Amino acid sequence: MPSALVTGITGQDGPYLAELLLSKGYDVYGLMRGQNNPKRAMVERELPDVKILTGDLTDQSSLMRALNDSNPTEVYNLGAISFVAYSWENAKVTSDVTGLGVLNLLEAVRLHAGNDPASVKFYQASSSEMFGKVQQVPQSEETLLWPRSPYGVAKVYGHYMTINYRESYGMHASSGILFNHESPRRGPEFVTRKVTQAVARIQLGLQHEIVMGNLDAQRDWGYAGDYVEAMWLMLQQPHGDDYVVSTDETHTIRELLDLAFAQVGINDWERYVRQDPRFMRPAEVDLLIGDSTKARTTLGWTPKVNFPELVAMMVDSDLAEQKKLAGL
Ligand code: GDP
Repeated sequence: MPSALVTGITGQDGPYLAELLLSKGYDVYGLMRGQNNPKRAMVERELPDVKILTGDLTDQSSLMRALNDSNPTEVYNLGAISFVAYSWENAKVTSDVTGLGVLNLLEAVRLHAGNDPASVKFYQASSSEMFGKVQQVPQSEETLLWPRSPYGVAKVYGHYMTINYRESYGMHASSGILFNHESPRRGPEFVTRKVTQAVARIQLGLQHEIVMGNLDAQRDWGYAGDYVEAMWLMLQQPHGDDYVVSTDETHTIRELLDLAFAQVGINDWERYVRQDPRFMRPAEVDLLIGDSTKARTTLGWTPKVNFPELVAMMVDSDLAEQKKLAGL
């Protein structure tokens, strides 16, 4: 039976990837940080077949131990401090976990794999935030990186370190440059989920306004469930490589608001939305739009859920959740 170790099992993508791997017959191990991790119960409830290991990306010996315990054929590094806005206030810890954590895991995998470095395949969750102040539209694997946040800088470090381990040691190491991907499992600090949760609460009379930041920012938003399939496909190729994963469409925050409110029959959303500089960023990534030609042609990957379907799925899920929470 193939075996996989997934870091970031408590995040958004970890559970989708674990479900995919379990459906393919993998033995799945999830790495979880710390004592009394509040998300442990969620993982045990939603993913009872995932075996939980304790470890931390900043602690290399804990990673060695996790590799010995799981003896994986595939390692997926999804663990990171991933909220961009937070990364300015916590630049050092973001660099330690999101950046240096990649080196710690690559080095642990290299040591664990011994004489056959390509025997353990490695996936690094790189990010479109690396394109930051975009140097080309749309962005492909060849586009010059120009990160605009401490998070983006840390992801660039992890990206190049993955390439360096592939080139230096012959590891089967791949970097997926994933554009924003969302789902009902997205954390409520991210703009899509913040909006869909608020729209559900407004519709149910539980909340009266949403306080937002920059409404003109544009993102290429896909569905997380589609994107984990691209991760798996990368590790099934003969060699490691880098791939942009995106829908190749971009939408503004205003369009997100249009669609989310329309899902509950509200067309004049301006009266519910207030802007506050608190949610503006010191530096903004203005126009992210991917060119995923390589992933589509080499991996045979295509996204299945489009943006309106994604927003509708998230609003419906939040309506059901908010009704349940409010006992309605
Ligand atoms: P990111 O692309 O990883 O930073 O994902 P986010 O979902 O956090 O932010 C996406 C975009 O939405 C950014 O350009 C933000 O500036 C913009 N945005 C506008 N209002 C808000 C808000 O209230 N919260 C968040 N998180 N983002 C906002």
